[in-house]
Amino acid sequence: MIGGTKVKSGGWLHLHNIVTYKKEQEMCGICGAFSQNTIPVDFMVKQAVKVNHRGHEAVGLAQVSCDGQFNHFVGQGLVRTACTASNPKFCEFCDRAREIAPTAYIGHTRYSTVGPSDLAHGQPIGMCHPKFGQFYVVHNGQIPRHEVLRKELEAQGQWFQTQSDTETLAAVIAHSEATTLAGAVYDLVERVDGAFSIIAISDQHLVAARDAHGFWPLWYGFDGNGGVVFASEEPALGRVYYRAEYIPAGTVVVSDKAGDEYGTKAQTVRRLERTHACWLNAVYLSRPDEGIGSTATMSNVRYALGGALADVCQVDVDMVVGVPDSGLDAMFGFAKKRGLSTEDWRAIVRNRFAPGRSFILPGQEDRQDVIRDKHSVTMRMVHGKRVGVVDDTIVRSNTARILTQMLYEAGAMEVHWFIPAPPIRFCCYYGIDTPTLRELAAHGRDEKQIAHMIGANSVTYLPLPVMLAVLERYNRYGWCTACVDGDYPIAVT
Ligand code: SF4
Repeated sequence: MIGGTKVKSGGWLHLHNIVTYKKEQEMCGICGAFSQNTIPVDFMVKQAVKVNHRGHEAVGLAQVSCDGQFNHFVGQGLVRTACTASNPKFCEFCDRAREIAPTAYIGHTRYSTVGPSDLAHGQPIGMCHPKFGQFYVVHNGQIPRHEVLRKELEAQGQWFQTQSDTETLAAVIAHSEATTLAGAVYDLVERVDGAFSIIAISDQHLVAARDAHGFWPLWYGFDGNGGVVFASEEPALGRVYYRAEYIPAGTVVVSDKAGDEYGTKAQTVRRLERTHACWLNAVYLSRPDEGIGSTATMSNVRYALGGALADVCQVDVDMVVGVPDSGLDAMFGFAKKRGLSTEDWRAIVRNRFAPGRSFILPGQEDRQDVIRDKHSVTMRMVHGKRVGVVDDTIVRSNTARILTQMLYEAGAMEVHWFIPAPPIRFCCYYGIDTPTLRELAAHGRDEKQIAHMIGANSVTYLPLPVMLAVLERYNRYGWCTACVDGDYPIAVT
């Protein structure tokens, strides 16, 4: 029994009791581990915290013991809020974990794009396969046109409880002809053209995979003590961080136990001529200490993009200030190239106790309140000055508009926005909740109109070819640019 639902042998039965019917996309943090030893819940919680910046609305954990006993938990809010001794459900999960002594687990932090922030939408999603039995999946990304897959599966007798494409992926695995979870994930990567990084567990395997386009990152590393750790973020691998391996696009990594032998092997199942890593992930979403290439981090990339912007920007300012946190590296790169002092780089301060990224909150009003609450502008630093503000992107323009107002309120003489990336003019269908075309600040507007919209003196973007030239210094594979130029690597409707 899991969550009050009995596993039916020889059929496909949901184990996660999902009750809503809204369209949902996922851009989330995922993690997991497979070990010869019992994995403590504390380790799982710490790892989930390290991917919490990718989703604040729910956290989910599923674990399995080496004798095939499963345990599952979904809680609302931040990991540190949901996974506490004051949450009876989490306490039940911990009690059961002590009984079963789990040796594999997967975790998920959820960012909802459409649909309510309720527990029903949390992952992992569990299903049952007629041959290899119970399994759980966590997913980061989105499957464009997953309705087509759904119709095929419905024709084979599958029923769905949500519109979630994670549920669709789980159902593809549940309907595979393969006899193992690993085999079913090989099938999935070969067959499904979508944006997904997934980690799944059964009582025999932990299986991690990235789609052939390589939209979203996924890492793994060995802890030297019989364990393998997986995460959407390199720094979330914890102690194995320094020996991390990036899972190549189209590759499946399988950790399992055959007899007394534990092993992990990676196999590239589908290879495209060109991959499509998400540039917005590099510029905005990733932690600054996330790796790229063999020696660089996202912080290095953002610094270089800021320098490149300084080369093309025609606007003179007295000072530059970065929007914390992901605008800061680019601001330092910009200032260095321009020879501007960075003495006042803290002119915009973020309250780290205020709620997180406004971009990943579901409602427009929530976002605007959060922006004012989480920033303050230091009058002593900006008063009477021409201020250049460096931020990673302008999406809806809420942050730029409100910070421009705050800078003027603090006495800035001029406010100019410097964006070390091109304007986002098209929607994303691969996992980022860019708003509708109508809501996108740059859709149908040029730089002057965007400046007018946010009340600033000017806005300068980095041209796409210049950004790509910088990114390609760090990653020799291809980048997705669909939200900039409308060139979608996977057809969307
Ligand atoms: S469309 Fe834009 S946001 Fe979406 S995956 Fe491509 S680069 Fe990333």
